[in-house]
Amino acid sequence: MGQMNRRTVRDLRRGNRSTLLRQLYFRGPVSRQELGTLTGLSSGSVSNVVGELLADELVEEAGSVESDGGRPRTLLRVAPGGGHLIGVDVGETHVRVELFDLSLTELARWEHPLTPGGLERDPEPVVGHILTGLDAVVDKSGASPDAVIGVGVGVPGVVEQGDEILVHGPTAGRDAVPLERLLRTGTDLPLFIDNGATAQGQAEMWFGAGRGADNAVIALIGSGVGAAIVTAGVPYRGATSSAGEWGHTVVQVGGRACRCGAVGCLEAYVGAQAVLDRYGHGARGAGAGGADGAGGADGAGEGGLDGVGEDQQAAFAAIVGAAGSEARAREVLEEAAAYLGAGIADLINLFNPERIILGGWAGLLLGGRVLPRIRAATASYALRRPYAQTEIGLAELGPDAVALGAATLPLAHFLATGGSR
Ligand SMILES: [Zn+2]
Repeated sequence: MGQMNRRTVRDLRRGNRSTLLRQLYFRGPVSRQELGTLTGLSSGSVSNVVGELLADELVEEAGSVESDGGRPRTLLRVAPGGGHLIGVDVGETHVRVELFDLSLTELARWEHPLTPGGLERDPEPVVGHILTGLDAVVDKSGASPDAVIGVGVGVPGVVEQGDEILVHGPTAGRDAVPLERLLRTGTDLPLFIDNGATAQGQAEMWFGAGRGADNAVIALIGSGVGAAIVTAGVPYRGATSSAGEWGHTVVQVGGRACRCGAVGCLEAYVGAQAVLDRYGHGARGAGAGGADGAGGADGAGEGGLDGVGEDQQAAFAAIVGAAGSEARAREVLEEAAAYLGAGIADLINLFNPERIILGGWAGLLLGGRVLPRIRAATASYALRRPYAQTEIGLAELGPDAVALGAATLPLAHFLATGGSR
C-alpha cells in the first residue's frame, strides 16, 4: 500500500513536470501565474516544479513583465542550452545528420550521398555513415556527448515499433532491416526511429503549417510519396505502424508499375521520378525511356533513373520552370495535378482533416506552380461537404525538414517524461 502511494506521488510529480515543461516549450516565455492558468495546477505546485526545472537547468528566466499593480512577473522558458538533440534524415539519396539545441536551432550538420534504396539493399554502409555523422556533428558543435538527449532517425518505408525496431523498405522482396540493433553496435545514445514522413509531419504540426490544427494530413512528395496523418493531435499509425503509405494507394487499376511491386500506385503518377519519366517519354517519343512507370522498380539507382539527388531535383525544377512556356511541361504537370487531386480527395474522404499540408521538395515545387489545379481536381473527386471544410496549403518548414522532424522524436520523449534523460 505504502509502495503504491509512493509510486502514485512520483507519477503525479512526473506528470506535473511534463505538463509544465510542455507549456514552457510551446508557449514560453510565460510567467508562473500564466503557467497556473494554462495548466490548472496550484501556485504551490507550479513553484515547486519550476524550482526543480530551474535547478536542473532545463528552464531559465527570460526577463519580466509588469503586472497590474503588483511586483513585476518573471518570465520563464525552456533553456535552449539545456540539452542537445540530433536528427538523422536517411533519404533516398543522402544521409544528413543535424545537431540542434533544445529550441531546435541547428548547431552542426553533416551529409553523405547515398544511392537510392541503399538502406534496404545493403544497410551496413548506411549505418556506418549514420554513426560517422553522429560523431561528426558532436565534434563540430563542441557539445558534450552527455548533453545529447537523444537521436531521432527518419527513414523511408515502414518502421515497425515492436520488441525490435524493423525497417521495411518500399521495394518489393527486400528483408526488414533491424536498424536499431545495427546502430547499437556503434553508439550508446538513446535512439528513436520512425518513418521520415511521420517525423517531418510532427515538425510541421508543432512549428509549421499544422500549428493549431488537431486533424491534418501532411502529404509529402519527393522521390517517394508518403503522408503523416494526425487525428485528434496524435499520429495515426495503425496496428503495426505502417499507416500513411499514401503513395501506394491505387489511383489506376491495371496502371503503371510501382517499385513496391503493385501497379497503379499514386507514387507512380505523382512521385518526382514518375513526373520526370512522363516528361522524358513525351520529349523522346513513347517507349524511349523503358517501361512506362515509376523509374525502374528494383533497379532504381542502377540505371533507369534520369537523375538522382540534386540532379533529379534540378531536372524536376526545370520542368516546373518550363511549364509557363512549354506545352509538354504544362501537360505533364497538369496530369500530375489531376492524380494528386484524386489522392488528396481520398485523404479528405477517409480522414476528414481540417488541413492538408503539401510538402516534400517535389510537392513544394509542384504546389508552387499548380496548387489551384490540384485544389480544383481535389474538389471534383472529394465529397463536397468535407472538401469545403478542408484547407489545402503548402508546408512551411522547407523541403529539407526530415532531420528537423527526426529531432522532434527524442524531443517528444523528453517533454513526455518531464525532462528526464
Ligand atoms: Zn506502390
